[in-house]
Amino acid sequence: MRSTPGSANSAGFDVVIVGAGIAGLQMLYRVRELGLTVRAFEAGSDVGGTWYWNGYPGARCDVESLEYSYQFSEELQQEWEWTERFATQPEILRYLNHVADRFDLRRDIQFNTRVEALTYDEDAGRWTVRTAAGDETTARFAVMATGCLSSANVPAFAGLDTFAGEIYHTGRWPHHDVDFTGKRVGVIGTGSSGIQSIPVVAEQAAELYVFQRTAAYSLPAGNHPLDPAEQAAIKADYAGFRARNNRMPSAGNSRFPANPASIFDATPDEREAAFDFRWARGGPGLLGTYGDIMVNKDANDIAAEYVREKIRQIVKDPELAARLSPEQVLGCKRICLDTNYYETFNRPNVHLVDVAAAPIERLTPTGIRTRAGEYELDAVIFATGFDAMTGALLSIDIRGRADLTLREKWSAGPRTYLGLGVPGFPNLFTISGPGSPSVLTNMMVSIHQHVNWIGECIQYLRDNEIVSIEATLEAEQAWVIHVNEVADTTLYPQCNSWYLGANIPGKTRVFMPLVGFPAYLDKCAEVAANGYEGFDLTRDRRLASCD
Ligand code: NAP
Repeated sequence: MRSTPGSANSAGFDVVIVGAGIAGLQMLYRVRELGLTVRAFEAGSDVGGTWYWNGYPGARCDVESLEYSYQFSEELQQEWEWTERFATQPEILRYLNHVADRFDLRRDIQFNTRVEALTYDEDAGRWTVRTAAGDETTARFAVMATGCLSSANVPAFAGLDTFAGEIYHTGRWPHHDVDFTGKRVGVIGTGSSGIQSIPVVAEQAAELYVFQRTAAYSLPAGNHPLDPAEQAAIKADYAGFRARNNRMPSAGNSRFPANPASIFDATPDEREAAFDFRWARGGPGLLGTYGDIMVNKDANDIAAEYVREKIRQIVKDPELAARLSPEQVLGCKRICLDTNYYETFNRPNVHLVDVAAAPIERLTPTGIRTRAGEYELDAVIFATGFDAMTGALLSIDIRGRADLTLREKWSAGPRTYLGLGVPGFPNLFTISGPGSPSVLTNMMVSIHQHVNWIGECIQYLRDNEIVSIEATLEAEQAWVIHVNEVADTTLYPQCNSWYLGANIPGKTRVFMPLVGFPAYLDKCAEVAANGYEGFDLTRDRRLASCD
């Protein structure tokens, strides 16, 4: 076990981590703290994960910078100075590079290496990891830090290969300058990625065609340079700030919590004033104007109508405003934050194409053909999202006990215990896996919690000479029921969102994340305190020592 960290090792490693984004980097740091050997594999040429791949114009975080940061090192969180309320992708990538350098993490990361298969050897109690290049190594533990939104969804449009212009996906943006000046550009998709990129691309492009299938709700980000005094105030008690955020349903926004009162106890004037205040403040806070907006359809309708009225006020052409106005439940698809999104449609070079009424039929050598017409384009940007939560995991051939594949195991939707473990797959952990709060929270916080839980778990196993940990089927079944029951108390399952897998043709519809962070945090702590209740632990003295 005491080999040089990162060195290829005939005995393999104690821990293999798949991914070197936010989760992989912190996991690597944590494993090193435990004194174990570790190798992280990363498909990209550098660290950053989401922030490495999503370099599209306008890419920016929708969680406030002071919250969207690591908390495992007090020195780090004191040293780093954020410049804006919501950080840009380049700033976050600089931060993650700084973290990698500051903690000397790169020496244990193998870049440009896609993991193709993970196979559990029951006799040896180890995972064999195979890369796309065919190299193999083994590890006692495998930690999947593959990200929830990392498997790009490119709809299989006919003629995709025939288009002669430039093609991009927001989640696979090239690492060189892309300039749309003077070009005719098409953006397919109006989720967060489309909504962030459209205003920026519109300023460069000669003509911009936005291919919209479902209008999305977007709230003004209200971004601004960070006030140094505000930053200093948080830093004066960062631990207290983190602790307060841990008690919030989304693991954040403790400075501006949701109002628990019912919308029906407020007069129309009071509602208007409350919505106006939150709209002007910017960020996602409008959803928390009243406690029943995300659980009661009538309450939600009132808030949704407020946003539609804002769209009508911003977009000058009433017919265009109507086409940009969403009808689904507000917030049941992930809410978007924007800077000048609706305003952009007042520009003469921006055109909204309704592909719900007239779907895209094919790409042609010169553009996009819908059922209603043909659009000549020099570049097409796919802002078509991701095979969320399961896509990256299932793209790897993961085989557990008795050759059970994760693809078979999850053929009717993902099933986990706590979003951390899967029966049949011993010693394999999924950071922010389905069944955990993950994408419904500040991911930085969820990742922090999972990394620490996994780290403590591995420490416990070592201390107690336990060689394998595996979620039980009973625990998994109860957990899946629990996740669904909680979701059903909200309006989340009521539209075709990626939370449900509804954006991917053929994907089983299951609500994948768990709503509510604090109860989950407590549950995970309780499971650990009770000797990893819900997991089978196997002692084997022959295998107990890693040395
Ligand atoms: P998304 O929310 O899934 O949006 C994809 C868009 O593409 C939707 O408008 C979708 O329409 C459209 N689309 C998909 N297939 C299509 C087809 N065949 N024809 C026409 N339109 C099609 O993806 P995203 O915008 O990349 O965002 C995904 C998530 O990433 C976000 O919800 C958020 O969690 C995260 N994200 C965060 C930030 C941030 O921090 N600011 C930025 C970007 C992304 P339908 O709605 O009709 O399916």
